[in-house]
Amino acid sequence: TGTVTSGAMSVTDVQLLSDADATDALRAIAAVESSSEHPLAQAIVRHVLTSSQDQLPAVTDFHSTAGFGVSGVVAQHTVFVGTERWLAQNHIELSVADLQIIAAQRASGASVILAGWDDKLHAAISIADTVRPDSREAVRQFTERGLNVVLLTGDHIDVARTVAAQVGITEVQGGITPEGKVAAVIELQRAGRRVAMIGDGVNDAAALAQADLGIAMGTGTDVAIAASDITLMRANLAAAVQAIQLSRHTLRTIHGNLF
Ligand code: ADP
Ligand code: MG
Repeated sequence: TGTVTSGAMSVTDVQLLSDADATDALRAIAAVESSSEHPLAQAIVRHVLTSSQDQLPAVTDFHSTAGFGVSGVVAQHTVFVGTERWLAQNHIELSVADLQIIAAQRASGASVILAGWDDKLHAAISIADTVRPDSREAVRQFTERGLNVVLLTGDHIDVARTVAAQVGITEVQGGITPEGKVAAVIELQRAGRRVAMIGDGVNDAAALAQADLGIAMGTGTDVAIAASDITLMRANLAAAVQAIQLSRHTLRTIHGNLF
């Protein structure tokens, strides 16, 4: 998703779903997220720090699982922040009422980040990002050049569909893990397609390496850049169109000179 959006993420809604103190809960969540480089995490930290300048509580045992979420211990509670699946894996089940609240948040196209500890869900935080104005034109140009564009994302499928529609992509897979992205690339390759993968995150690194051509957004994480063949110096999909065009021209010149 981050390859077509502006990355200027902001928290648009916070739903507290337990009787925990709201301020304490948010500060614990932000404390854990402050160790994550994920843009969603940074949006949460910014949001919490604008309402209070107090130092965030200390965190130990921070862990990050790409495509799922993070965890850390704050005041003897292990706090989990991430997707529904991440919380379920850590014994936090959601009630029907919780699921309804989350679905309503998602309907607006926002990503919903869940947080829980002590086997209970405590908060659902909506984070909105805007589609970059040039993404739609870039997708149109890829298509015009005979490329078939697919949006592969770890985001919830409802959010993925909303974003895809905004940029004119019709083939969408949501809720994809980092391994799932590799599998999707392999599947296309087995079908005889040559695959270019564009990514920005830790969660994209393996798929970038698997693809015939890996393109990293220069604003992305170091591991994505290391796993790719080309790094775009602007956070702009139009640069990927230009890179492919330039490569085709170069190859044509080489062929021309050879023969
Ligand atoms: P994408 O494929 O769009 O780059 P990711 O694989 O990075 O998405 O993330 C997939 C989902 O995992 C996110 O939408 C979010 O719900 C969750 N997630 C990943 N990392 C974090 C984090 N640090 N904090 C909260 N949620 C996270
Ligand atoms: Mg990403």
